[in-house]
Amino acid sequence: MSRELFEENLQKIKPLLAKFSAEPIRHFINGESVVAFNGKTFSNHSPVDNSLIGAVSAGTAEDIDIACRAAEAEFDDWAALPGKQRKELLHAIADAIEANAENIALVESFDTGQPLRFMKKAAIRGAENYRFFADMAADARNGLSLPAQQHMNYSTRQPIGPVGIITPWNTPFMLSTWKIAPALAAGCTVVHKPAEWSPCSASLLINIMHEAGLPAGVVNTVHGIGEVAGKALTEHEAIKAIAFVGESQTGSAIMKQGADTLKRVHFELGGKNPVIVFDDADLERALDAVVFMIYSLNGERCTSSSRLLVQSTIAEEFVEKVRARVAALNIGHPLDPATEIGPLIHPIHLNKVASYFDIAKDEGATIAIGGNVPDLDGKGCFVEPTLFTKATPDMRISQEEIFGPVLTAIEFVDEADAVEIANSVRYGLAGYAWTGDAGRAIRLGRDLDVGMIWVNSENNRHLPSPFGGMKASGIGRDGGDYSFDFYMETKNVCIATDDHHVPKLAKV
Ligand code: NAD
Repeated sequence: MSRELFEENLQKIKPLLAKFSAEPIRHFINGESVVAFNGKTFSNHSPVDNSLIGAVSAGTAEDIDIACRAAEAEFDDWAALPGKQRKELLHAIADAIEANAENIALVESFDTGQPLRFMKKAAIRGAENYRFFADMAADARNGLSLPAQQHMNYSTRQPIGPVGIITPWNTPFMLSTWKIAPALAAGCTVVHKPAEWSPCSASLLINIMHEAGLPAGVVNTVHGIGEVAGKALTEHEAIKAIAFVGESQTGSAIMKQGADTLKRVHFELGGKNPVIVFDDADLERALDAVVFMIYSLNGERCTSSSRLLVQSTIAEEFVEKVRARVAALNIGHPLDPATEIGPLIHPIHLNKVASYFDIAKDEGATIAIGGNVPDLDGKGCFVEPTLFTKATPDMRISQEEIFGPVLTAIEFVDEADAVEIANSVRYGLAGYAWTGDAGRAIRLGRDLDVGMIWVNSENNRHLPSPFGGMKASGIGRDGGDYSFDFYMETKNVCIATDDHHVPKLAKV
């Protein structure tokens, strides 16, 4: 059955890929698809077999300038559109995404290497992002009533202006919608710079949005290399804020690049997230969650639980169970419905992930399973799912974001020890804990230095809840009203209600 569905998927993707190979992916500026200003392109390959998918327009500062000017010109009209109309339009986009969900998932899967079983949900989640923020659009301007003794204060919000959105290659479709939908609901216009290693689904998204009725110039997509097109976007004077998802190091560069134009920034960056398993936990459920949260999405996930902190009383038995599950993971073509682990995004990233196999050995850790790159003669960026054991908290494999299907297991003695190890990294995005002790669950919620904590659960998203990290994992929060705080300016209006004393100067 799985084999038949796989064959079906291979047939279904052929006409989609034919479009990408027929002509270069173009920018989409002011409602039109256009080639790069200087006519240049770069190549985009599939990590499945390193085959050429097609060429992509290589944006430079000129393309970014044209796109930013379009977003600037359209801003007043878009910001003035009644929330109800924005809501209807965003729902229409969500409908169109749902109608195209299968094609989006197939293309995303082939372009990124992410197994189709996960990408199906990512496309649907993209539609949910539009629906969720559509319903919030009408109230986005609402503020607070803040009465004082002789004055009435109230706050209100207005969209900040045209914004730049820069997205990474991991689940690029879902992440683009997670940023673009709230910006549009708030009344901002957008210039989007997708990741150069995964440009295909951004091109589908911008077309879908316009076919659903988005006015020209409201969202503009410029493809290109981060250090060129991305940099120009962060430096452009028409752009008032940059919403960025990517590596911590890139966030730091963007902050510098945006300094001259005083950019507001929102950063969702890297992580080295702990999953802490105590001996009083439901260990079967914990085992499922530990395996899922690092080996799903190829481990190329900011909230992956890449450090397993396991209590020494159960460590040997629990880690052996993890090892057995890793041994049974199904590696294969991402379009095969049976596949659990697909190829990594790009040969450069594959080399980075694989470099940690030697680092682990040099540091004295044990590779309990995996640790190899299959010899496929340069055909595909596959890596074995890997488990490092006997690791200590100070090792590089315990400190650095590897961003692949690679788990580092570290033992701890008690709760204090677990918290110290969990907090001993530069990142602070997410933390997971498994325990049967309710008091401990609350203490961990207090003591872990991370932006999001899940207790007795894998990553379970709730769109109104704040999403984001502390330390080197980010600045700011997304989700619900938190997103509007970023895409909008808050204004306070203070009106005197009585004849209060006004100070007099220069009495005559
Ligand atoms: P990256 O930082 O290399 O690239 C992200 C984007 O930034 C790309 O579009 C790239 O072209 C652009 N870029 C690169 N240099 C730039 C510059 N100087 N100026 C402007 N733009 C520039 O990240 P990546 O490798 O594509 O993505 C993986 C990283 O993203 C991981 O670290 C992961 O943890 C992180 N991530 C974080 C979250 C989160 O919510 N915290 C979510 C997903 C991914």
